[in-house]
Amino acid sequence: MLFNANPNKGGNINIGLMGGTFDPIHMGHLVTAEEARQQFDLDYVVFVPAGIPPHKDEKSISLPEHRYLMTSLAVMSNPSFFVSRIEIDQNEPTYTIDTVRHFSCGKEPGPEVFFITGADAILEIFTWKDYEELLRLCTFIAVSRPGYSLDQFYESLDRSCPDMRHRVHLLEIPALAVSSTFIRERVTLGKTIKYLTPEPVEQYIKKHGLYRSSAW
Ligand code: NAP
Repeated sequence: MLFNANPNKGGNINIGLMGGTFDPIHMGHLVTAEEARQQFDLDYVVFVPAGIPPHKDEKSISLPEHRYLMTSLAVMSNPSFFVSRIEIDQNEPTYTIDTVRHFSCGKEPGPEVFFITGADAILEIFTWKDYEELLRLCTFIAVSRPGYSLDQFYESLDRSCPDMRHRVHLLEIPALAVSSTFIRERVTLGKTIKYLTPEPVEQYIKKHGLYRSSAW
């Protein structure tokens, strides 16, 4: 995936990587990506559906292709949004460090990379592969509902990686009251998910019978 340099920024570009399982993608994710795009001056936001997340039982997650297609349907109307297959095309557990290395291109100066994901996931960053290098390579945008505090996390960060606080920002999104779990539960119970996810995603879920049983 190649992006044009931004002439207004001396040829540099800011790329947001929106990491998540997206099972399914919902309005909270889209509002988050748009808010991050504006607040952090991102030229593009690339949604990266996780392949086989190293920390999850893959049997409880929808097939990568379903999650990729739903994500593609959700972002198609926004010219700044893209979807990457980089993680879903791998047949083994995928790690954020490899994805970030790919998008940083190893160039100097390379694109400035921002990794956007749920604050709960970022709290676990000390267990992620090569997290010290990750914090050097990209800026994290930890997304949460209003009222979340990263104070304890910052204390741990100071102990493990001093002077890295500037690499993790909190972004509060009221629309994150919607969650993928909430949507899956509603589908299983036969309840409407209209307006919680874009209509093409709602239709996709219906057509493929996703989340009908609570086996997820
Ligand atoms: P998760 O545990 O499924 O999600 C944790 C929380 O964050 C949930 O409330 C989730 O809500 C929310 N969330 C997830 N992605 C979000 C996003 N992009 N924007 C806003 N909220 C989001 O987390 P996950 O999806 O498995 O992992 C998140 C990312 O971290 C993925 O890209 C994954 O690959 C990466 N990760 C990497 C490693 C590693 O490299 N070792 C380890 C763990 C995670 P929803 O369910 O509504 O999305």
